[in-house]
Amino acid sequence: MKTIRILGELTPGTTQRHLVKLPGAALMNDEPRPVISVAGAKSGPVLFVNAGVHGGEYPAVEAVIRLGQTLDAKKISGTVVLMPVLNLPAFRTRTPFVCPIDNVNPNRVFPGDPSGSYSEQMTHALINEFVVHADAYVDLHGGDIPEALVPFVICRSGDDEVAKKSKEIAMAFGLPYVLTVSKPVQPSKGSSSYAAAAEKGVPSILAEAGGVGRMQEEAVQLLVDGVENVMQHLGMVAGPNSQMPSSKSQGNSKSQTKKTAHRAVATAETSAGAAVASAVLTKFEWVYTKNAGIWYPNVGAGDVVTEGEQIGTVGDLFGDTLEKIISPVNGVILFLTINPSVLENGLLMGIGVE
Ligand SMILES: [Zn+2]
Repeated sequence: MKTIRILGELTPGTTQRHLVKLPGAALMNDEPRPVISVAGAKSGPVLFVNAGVHGGEYPAVEAVIRLGQTLDAKKISGTVVLMPVLNLPAFRTRTPFVCPIDNVNPNRVFPGDPSGSYSEQMTHALINEFVVHADAYVDLHGGDIPEALVPFVICRSGDDEVAKKSKEIAMAFGLPYVLTVSKPVQPSKGSSSYAAAAEKGVPSILAEAGGVGRMQEEAVQLLVDGVENVMQHLGMVAGPNSQMPSSKSQGNSKSQTKKTAHRAVATAETSAGAAVASAVLTKFEWVYTKNAGIWYPNVGAGDVVTEGEQIGTVGDLFGDTLEKIISPVNGVILFLTINPSVLENGLLMGIGVE
């Protein structure tokens, strides 16, 4: 069985709390990061789950905390390792998108660099101390403090074994959309967590729910259920039980009726027991404003948009319109910047395309 050495000896059938100092010169003075290990009574795969790569995505953080409180080691085959917050400096300071120590978005510099900046050393440590020792990896996110979103899962596309397994895990998670992507959505030094993990041969996904800097209970529940669905998919827990009503959803149904259910999920009107059939999207189109100013969207997260449709405007501080924002594609808005203040070349939204 694989072991995660930095956690020391794990006792089967028990949940243990750890305070971990990650290696790396730039991380020397960090407060230790809480990690919870749930070592199953029976042997099986190692699943690593973290949140807080972005420090303001609170439902994801809470989902990991709650899994640590509720998973029963006696009923699990294999080991679940949980890290509620990777980017603690951002969490402590309520900083969206980046780590305030180096102003770098950690999810653009995976797999990191042991002699790079703070975020590069932090992601390097995460990959090398945790991810590569796991059989599967789930990175939980949400909309950041200025973003609303509909719940979705991202994984790498491709025909290789790791990509296939990643997509199966993504479908098993059970959110409204699964987005498979082949290249980084933004040009950057590195890649995202799930892509770097897949490069290392570890099937992995990034799942998102909640946003706008709040603790939405329905988003927490979607992420908790999703991880439990993945555990079931990996054979770490027995079949459906009363705690896991949404674990019925499997990756075999491609929904063509994507216009219907998702707005409801975005506004949390679905009952906890509703099985979700994920719609598969294959392209992620990000829309930016050219001008700094005030952003007036006339769409919401989860809305279906058509190519050429005006989806908002950006104005100046006299009230004049600087720019009409036009949808470049037919698709569904997966996340939307809801803070009115936007910068030059500022990100407004991400549209998933079938
Ligand atoms: Zn994030």
